[in-house]
Amino acid sequence: MARARQVNAAAKKIAPIGNECVYQFMTDTLHDNILKPKGRSMLRGLRGKCPRCGEAKLFRAYLKPVHDCSYCGQDWDSIRADDGPAWLTILIVGHLVGPLIVYFVLHPAIPLWVSFVLIPLLVAGLSLLLLPRCKGAFMGLIWATGAPTS
Ligand SMILES: [Zn+2]
Repeated sequence: MARARQVNAAAKKIAPIGNECVYQFMTDTLHDNILKPKGRSMLRGLRGKCPRCGEAKLFRAYLKPVHDCSYCGQDWDSIRADDGPAWLTILIVGHLVGPLIVYFVLHPAIPLWVSFVLIPLLVAGLSLLLLPRCKGAFMGLIWATGAPTS
């Protein structure tokens, strides 16, 4: 927040008062190039929106990101999340389903077929649900940090 105030103050010095268009451009440019808030970018990616502007869709298919943002023009071809989203999805799903597996093992009164049906369905469903969200969050984090991609 203090950093945002510094950027706004710097933009006001550069752009003369009364020239709101230039001031807004300078503020947006400084904000994008200097701040790139990581949390906000990750949340926007998590929602499947462009991490830069938060307006347009990030994905054109289930896991295929758009080439460029239709709203702000950000290039998304150069941002590759690689195995990060799969790793995060497995981490989350494993921690959610693991205790359930232990519960089924410790309670033999539960029929075996219930665990054989329920656990694979839960793992598949959660993985399909979380994978694009994790990919969006990773793309937002990569964009915000400027981390090199493969
Ligand atoms: Zn955008």
